[in-house]
Amino acid sequence: MGREARVEQGEVLLGWGRVTYRLKRSKRRRTVGLKLDPEHGLVVYCPQSVSLRRLEEVLYRNSKWIREKSRQAEARRAAMPQVRWTPGARLPFKGVHYPLELLFHAGKRELLLIDGRLQLILPAKVSACLSEEELREQMHLSFRAAARETIEARVAFFERVVGFQPRSIRIKGQKTRWGSCSARGILNFNWRLILAPPPVLDYVVVHELCHLAHLDHSRRFWARVGAVLPAYAEARSWLTEHGSTLYAY
Ligand SMILES: [Zn+2]
Repeated sequence: MGREARVEQGEVLLGWGRVTYRLKRSKRRRTVGLKLDPEHGLVVYCPQSVSLRRLEEVLYRNSKWIREKSRQAEARRAAMPQVRWTPGARLPFKGVHYPLELLFHAGKRELLLIDGRLQLILPAKVSACLSEEELREQMHLSFRAAARETIEARVAFFERVVGFQPRSIRIKGQKTRWGSCSARGILNFNWRLILAPPPVLDYVVVHELCHLAHLDHSRRFWARVGAVLPAYAEARSWLTEHGSTLYAY
């Protein structure tokens, strides 16, 4: 890890509108590069010293690309559910949205599905007036625990079918992956899979278990996945289409 590049803001008038960008200078760069970051918008990577003219030339030349990418990012943002972390919020759990109910008791934290409601039961010592951030934190811990329980059970079920056993299972909060398999046989899963429909979680479990046999995405790999889950393509396209919305939670 090197030192963070210095970040400056810039603005340019392109044919279709005014665009602000973040400028990241770096000693190692020789060329000007563009990236549309979902969080930061347009980022321009450039060498330590670069003229404004050269920068703008690259921006003009890529004007169409920038417009297209900005529109896509805007559409994705608009499709993102706006979540209020308060009792009554509708949260996805195993593919269905349930209203959240907050209760307190003398025992440990629990997450239950009762009468069409997702009940978060917290120890009485936790303040009853949780902030949204605190409630989100409590829900994340509960979702993570539920993910662990379900994923461990599904791995135990499918490992017999696939014929390979992982060395261990880790539940993570990766930003961009649903699962991964290390060369040492450790399977990592994203806890947000517990929010998705069960066939989607099963697909990711089987996908990673099959990587224990083939550490690539070769035809033999996909044939093995298909032998276990003939309808896996449906789950795969669900992830492509809806997967990113799970990051709103
Ligand atoms: Zn894979």
